[in-house]
Amino acid sequence: MRYLILSDLHANWEALAAVLRDAEGRSYEAVLVLGDLVGYGASPNQVIEAVRGLAAPLQAIRGNHDKVAAGLDDGGSFNATALAAARWTAGELSAANLRYLQELPAGPLEVTAGLTICHGSPRDEDAYLLSTGEAWEAFEAHPAALTFFGHTHVPSAFILRDEGIDLEVLQGDEAVLDVEPGARYLVNPGSVGQPRDRDPRAAYMLYDDERRQAVLRRVEYPVDEAQERIVDAGLPMILAERLPLGF
Ligand code: ZN
Repeated sequence: MRYLILSDLHANWEALAAVLRDAEGRSYEAVLVLGDLVGYGASPNQVIEAVRGLAAPLQAIRGNHDKVAAGLDDGGSFNATALAAARWTAGELSAANLRYLQELPAGPLEVTAGLTICHGSPRDEDAYLLSTGEAWEAFEAHPAALTFFGHTHVPSAFILRDEGIDLEVLQGDEAVLDVEPGARYLVNPGSVGQPRDRDPRAAYMLYDDERRQAVLRRVEYPVDEAQERIVDAGLPMILAERLPLGF
């Protein structure tokens, strides 16, 4: 099976459209969405509708921004910018898209035997997986051989072998990760809508479970158009300013 993996779309329609165009020519049979469809960006309805309209079978889970925008969490842990964006999003969502967000399941979600998706960590959907220590706790808590996670917006892989855990940062136009049979993996496909690894290009992944290969792709998109929408919506300026910095 070939999976298209999208995470942290963050209501960035221009980025998602570019990613879907890029993925179209590469063929995939199923789609996995790791949460944060909305928040920060100015196109929440378009992004949700594009995800809902994907032709391949789709499995999606919620992210922390989806929960706050959907009224399932009060956003007490959010900074002022994130909270302002979540409240703006809540006011923009159509009734059908609000319901879609409210009904997204929490991770971890088992896609198939040995393959799991989550937003933050398999231990806690809102936890950040940044260090090898946090990765260790996640490997301990959840048995999957391969887990795709999001939330940090940094394309990377924690790899557990007998010798310990390695962190592999995935960079460049295209980064290939071979999934070894004996090892376990926590893999982050990066963020479609708000990259934070100093590369402003949209990030997404394709995973082929027969070839045991995950490919991270980076895609240019019209950042200025996404910025213009954010400014026109009256969202905090920093949300527009950070996009070309990739941070
Ligand atoms: Zn996010």
